Amino acid sequence: MKLERAELRVVTLPLKFRFETSMGVETEKVFPLLRLRSNGLEGVAEGVMDDRLPVFREETVQSAMTFLEEFLPRMIGLEFPNPEAVARYLEPYRGNHMAKAVIEMAFWDLWARHLGQPLHRLLGGVRDAIPVGVSIGIQKDIAATLELVADHVAQGYKRVKLKIKPGWDIQHVTAVRSAFVNINLTVDANSAYSLADARVFQALDTLQLDYIEQPLAWNDLHDHAKLQAMMNTPLCLDESISSAQDARKALESKACRVINIKVGRVGGHLEARRVHDVAAAFGAPVWCGGMLESGIGRAHNIHLSSLANFSKPGDTSSASRYFDTDIINEPLEVTDGLMPIPAGAGIGVSLNEVVLETVTLQKQEFGA
Ligand code: MG
Repeated sequence: MKLERAELRVVTLPLKFRFETSMGVETEKVFPLLRLRSNGLEGVAEGVMDDRLPVFREETVQSAMTFLEEFLPRMIGLEFPNPEAVARYLEPYRGNHMAKAVIEMAFWDLWARHLGQPLHRLLGGVRDAIPVGVSIGIQKDIAATLELVADHVAQGYKRVKLKIKPGWDIQHVTAVRSAFVNINLTVDANSAYSLADARVFQALDTLQLDYIEQPLAWNDLHDHAKLQAMMNTPLCLDESISSAQDARKALESKACRVINIKVGRVGGHLEARRVHDVAAAFGAPVWCGGMLESGIGRAHNIHLSSLANFSKPGDTSSASRYFDTDIINEPLEVTDGLMPIPAGAGIGVSLNEVVLETVTLQKQEFGA
């Protein structure tokens, strides 16, 4: 299909609460939103990079906008028969996985709508609802953490993930485990530690955690393998995995036993599916991580999570947990810890044009 037009926005949504991790505090979500058009149809996707400061990975909204403003005019007018062709077009250019994913994912939505198929069916999904966990940021004290955990356990979430950082780890996680003996509990350090902190992880190793996520540096498989060898609890890698090759190397070198797949972080659905398949070949489960997405990014994540080896609960909770107002018309709501996959062609949700206008910081069109 021929790409006829593209609309690129930067959108901002205020968060309902401050979300603190070892990387800092977020109070609003700023992201690029791309609409690709062909033959009267539209495909939509959003970006998951940081605004201004590259704290999660090296990309930012600003670097992605530079990339997208360069590539979209070149791609308008070209024929792309399928998502593989889009990925092949972008493949020679290095890095920028999150920026590439915006284009690749919007094309998947457009292509699925063109074929009249839901995205999960084209990806090869096998389930019609996704088990959902919750990610709890760093709170002001243990009491506040315990209250939030109780609230989410009561709502039926299938897994509780606690963000940790040096000084906010053993004592707090132990308190939660003592109060909630049987819940599926995990922690995420977002690369805040080094091997010199091994004693912290040996203490956490006694708390029956389902996994410990990204304890060490984002670009260091070697030390993750050393740490994994000291522990019974599986390590899960997030920031470290940019591609299926990274996943293979991490699993071969025993740097982790679980992988968090973020479709934006690895460059789109095709590479996310490859990471999923590599992990399956190693017998390693995967789950879908979140980046505080709006309903558009959540819908993409939900469809991807329908693949067979997404056997652990993901971060695909309701957007209403994070935002007062979403930019899509259809509510994506969790019931008893399960998120239904949106029905309909493509990602199965549509933009609310009225809301979208009120949260748009900038907008440009290509091929108009
Ligand atoms: Mg993570």
